[in-house]
Amino acid sequence: MRRFAVSALCGLALALGACSTARTAHVTPETAPSGPPKLIVAISVDQFSADLFAQYRSRFSSGLARLQQGAVFPSGFQAHAATETCPGHATLLTGTRPARSGIIANNWYDLGTARAEKKIYCAEDENDPASSSRDPVVSAVHLKVPTLGDLMKGANPATRNVSVSAKDRAVMMMGGHRIDAAYWYYKGQFATLKGREPSPAANAINNAVAALVKKGAPAMPMPAWCASADQPIAVGKGQLGTGRFALEAGKPDALRASPRMDSATVDLANALIDEMNLGKGSVADILSVSLSATDYIGHANGTEGGEMCVQMAELDRTIGRLLAHLDARGIDYAVVLSADHGGLDIPERQREQALPRAVRADPGLAPQALAKALSVQTGVTSPDPLLSSDGLFGDFYVSRKIGAADRARVIGALVKLARAHPQVAAVFTADELAKTPLPSGSPQDFTLKDRARASFDPTRSGDVVILLDRAVTPIPEPAVGSFVATHGSAWDYDRRVPMLFWRKGLRGFEQPAPVETIDIAPTLAAMLGLAVPEGTFDGRCLDVDGGERNTCEVIK
Ligand SMILES: [Zn+2]
Repeated sequence: MRRFAVSALCGLALALGACSTARTAHVTPETAPSGPPKLIVAISVDQFSADLFAQYRSRFSSGLARLQQGAVFPSGFQAHAATETCPGHATLLTGTRPARSGIIANNWYDLGTARAEKKIYCAEDENDPASSSRDPVVSAVHLKVPTLGDLMKGANPATRNVSVSAKDRAVMMMGGHRIDAAYWYYKGQFATLKGREPSPAANAINNAVAALVKKGAPAMPMPAWCASADQPIAVGKGQLGTGRFALEAGKPDALRASPRMDSATVDLANALIDEMNLGKGSVADILSVSLSATDYIGHANGTEGGEMCVQMAELDRTIGRLLAHLDARGIDYAVVLSADHGGLDIPERQREQALPRAVRADPGLAPQALAKALSVQTGVTSPDPLLSSDGLFGDFYVSRKIGAADRARVIGALVKLARAHPQVAAVFTADELAKTPLPSGSPQDFTLKDRARASFDPTRSGDVVILLDRAVTPIPEPAVGSFVATHGSAWDYDRRVPMLFWRKGLRGFEQPAPVETIDIAPTLAAMLGLAVPEGTFDGRCLDVDGGERNTCEVIK
């Protein structure tokens, strides 16, 4: 086994573009540690589709190369329909589908809430008057199930459960209800839960991030193998494809859609490993690291340009720094790496690249436009919006301020209208989904209704669920530089993600058969020898040792 060690001093220096990326390779003996690992490292790479992994996996030479020496599942499924950040992160460490975790989307509507704003953000506590869906009081109150960290702490409160990301929802969905250290990026700093203060280590990282934001940073290097991706493409009123992530001074939010965001997140993770002595206690700890830059870069630039190519190279190096940091401390750790969802490139470039059907969605699918059409058709009007939705697809909620007969008529008319639309693949009512059994069997064979059912919670889902057709990007007007491409669909480019497991001494293998991200928590629980009540997970344990050893046999 080859182990790569990157200089531990390369953290923020690398972020500033000033560090050499030289690495040394040396050989370590293949001795498997006995007993459960002392630290679980759960890495989520936001929007890291199975397609991106397949495209770039032969180029990786650092952290992502190491993880490919372990158990590789190239077809992991986020099997549900609403392939968004919050539901996806919730599957990773709870082992449950959105239908059970209650995290059906990033945002849903609660038309019965006392708050004036009816939109609910998945990781907010809307009962706190300071909270709004856009500027939330961050909380895991909506997560109906425990995470692996919660279960570990339940078994032994000495376990430390640590969760970091650029995104608050990723932190809360991977960390859960009992997080010892929780940090996300907010207005130029890593912030923590209400009522807590950042630790000294977090403050030190925040000072370094503040210095980086103040100074700005130069363009990042473009690897030679990015040449075919590094081509300009016209999008809306602008052009994309050849960005290099030069960071303008004094723009804290610009850091997000940059490889430097992941680098800062790993710097924070590494600082917390040292400050809390993770993996060195009497009982196993868990560290969740959600790296958000791939998602922000995908949204801002699409997935097939030079920008994403640079990001893949930097991501590999950044994950390498995290692993090298753990190695240097002699920690016995087990890693899982996966993603909350996949993604799709911009239609403008896809049409140049053999996918002529790729289009942007008709603005007529927006809830306001649909409501207007429904009012004309049915004659029903409402004192509040007749129709609420977080976008041009997914859950649509019909006003509760109209009579039952009118509601039924509006729902019926909406189903008919949506089904007739050429960009719509399927439409389901809540009544229909409630009567559908939860799907089982291979996730690649799930029907669209199965996928929608896996995302359905009768207490939170819409009255009508609309699924768009393949390669329809639900962004009618691209905002160049921030939002041109997305995910969220029920199609496999958004559902399929890699799942990689690595621990020193495990025999590596590649298993192309489909598995699910809900299999991750039971797999790790078995590795830890954690006693978990029957039925805790929707997924199954995967034996991640390719040899005779079976990691699903609970270690006594
Ligand atoms: Zn996203």
